[in-house]
Amino acid sequence: MIEKTSEFIERLMVCEPAVRAQFEYSDLEAASETAGDPDPLCEQDYEVAPGLINKYGNRVLCLLTTECPAYCRFCTRRRLVGDGAPDFAGADRVDAWVEYLNSHPEVREAIISGGDPFVVEDALFRYALEQLSAVASVKVLRIGTRAPVTDPMLVTDEKLDAIAKVEQPVYVGIHFEHPSELTPQTVRCVRNLRLAGAILYSQTVFLRGINDDYRTLYDLFTGLLEIGVRPYYIYRCDPVPGAAHFRVDPAKERHIMTELRRTLSGLACPTYVIDAPHGSGKIPVPLEFWECDMSSYKDFDGKRHANE
Ligand code: SF4
Repeated sequence: MIEKTSEFIERLMVCEPAVRAQFEYSDLEAASETAGDPDPLCEQDYEVAPGLINKYGNRVLCLLTTECPAYCRFCTRRRLVGDGAPDFAGADRVDAWVEYLNSHPEVREAIISGGDPFVVEDALFRYALEQLSAVASVKVLRIGTRAPVTDPMLVTDEKLDAIAKVEQPVYVGIHFEHPSELTPQTVRCVRNLRLAGAILYSQTVFLRGINDDYRTLYDLFTGLLEIGVRPYYIYRCDPVPGAAHFRVDPAKERHIMTELRRTLSGLACPTYVIDAPHGSGKIPVPLEFWECDMSSYKDFDGKRHANE
């Protein structure tokens, strides 16, 4: 697997063990390297054009690149992002997405993701935003990124300007794991995104030994709300190969989330979900306010899964 870290995150890794553990290879990976599922969300089955995934009907995922400034060792798209040569969309691929969207007016949301979309050249970033927002049936644009944490310099003035020019609401989902990621540079980058008119939310994954305790997540979610990022989802870590050592006991996750729900401002509390295998969707986990033994759950298609 490719080992890549930006200079920015390398500096943070030196002084922050919780950051280092997310990006540094561990011998523990070898123990589950052949277990798990390289595509747990079955995205490949729903690829309707190169780099375009339509799994949910009313929204599409546009993979602008498979490259990231730094590789998280628990990445759900590890099969694309970490393994193999980076793949970038070009204008021709964006044009093919637009053609698909024009013939599928039921799609209302385009989610630009990757890899990290802020890695690409400013010109391609701008082109993708301009073209996707020009599709009349696309009412919402979303961008999934970790660049404000891993390499804030990638959020350039040109890219901010491209966001500011989009007429539809642009929601930027930023991946955060630990309060030590709220560096002054990240906070400044978040502010710039807000000033460009983006609506910000966060996504987090439960990670053993990194954020699987009440205090860490309380501080993270409170810190995010206070810089204008609405905590949105916290996920159970997907069963990708090499990531078993990051997975937390589900009962512990549920207990932490129950305590957080009790004490956090409602706006600061994300929804705790399991991204169901076979691409069914994000299933909310009932907290300890409800009777539930956590052993299994039904997905949105009514299929029952063991909660492993
Ligand atoms: S930022 Fe996201 S896509 Fe990139 S390596 Fe991390 S989890 Fe994977």
